[in-house]
Amino acid sequence: MTTVGVDWALDWVRCSAAVVTEHREELIDLDRAIGDGDHGENMHRGYRILLEKLDGFEAATVGDVLKLVATTLMSKVGGAAGPLYGTAFLRGAKAADSADLDAAGVAAVLAAGVEGVVARGKAEVGDKTMVDAWHPAAAAAQEVADSGGSAGEALRAAADAARAGAESTEPLVARKGRASYLGERAIGHRDPGAQSSALLLEAAAAAAGA
Ligand code: ADP
Ligand code: MG
Repeated sequence: MTTVGVDWALDWVRCSAAVVTEHREELIDLDRAIGDGDHGENMHRGYRILLEKLDGFEAATVGDVLKLVATTLMSKVGGAAGPLYGTAFLRGAKAADSADLDAAGVAAVLAAGVEGVVARGKAEVGDKTMVDAWHPAAAAAQEVADSGGSAGEALRAAADAARAGAESTEPLVARKGRASYLGERAIGHRDPGAQSSALLLEAAAAAAGA
């Protein structure tokens, strides 16, 4: 797809809800290993409520949809991840104030999202957080935009980079969040927030058929 629009954004929510439901147990287990085990249930609840809110929801811009995601995740997900995702989607919404996004638009939304996560949580790449998925994803989308690719290609590149980024958290010690209390015991475990971020970005690509 050269551009993605409101229908894509709505499909992104639906695909995210499906993928979060499918991976609920996995996210619970990851968070149980290096946190408190609530991440899978929290994300599942947030997206279930989002699906209900989608009924009859009227959106003129991609940003309208992302704002609904932001306010819902912010208020319903809880934990550290709720406010972090809320801020990411709120910043992304502001960057998506149009009916269609090309590759540069997709890259701008992802860049705004990662800026939101960093503004809120102050983590850097390598701290074993969701930033390790979001940051390479935004960079990969920007590369596609710079080389003249489509929005769908930007989303596919972002999803692939996010998956690799989530995998890259496994050997790391956590420097932010609950997992940071574990020191070296966090080594060998994938960060749950990085994994859920990779799943959401995979859903974004799938919604574009990419
Ligand atoms: P809690 O520790 O409150 O139970 P969640 O289970 O909701 O938090 O979410 C945990 C995830 O949040 C972590 O796996 C990590 O990806 C992310 N996270 C935690 N703190 C930060 C932070 N300061 N910056 C970025 N991401 C963070
Ligand atoms: Mg938790």
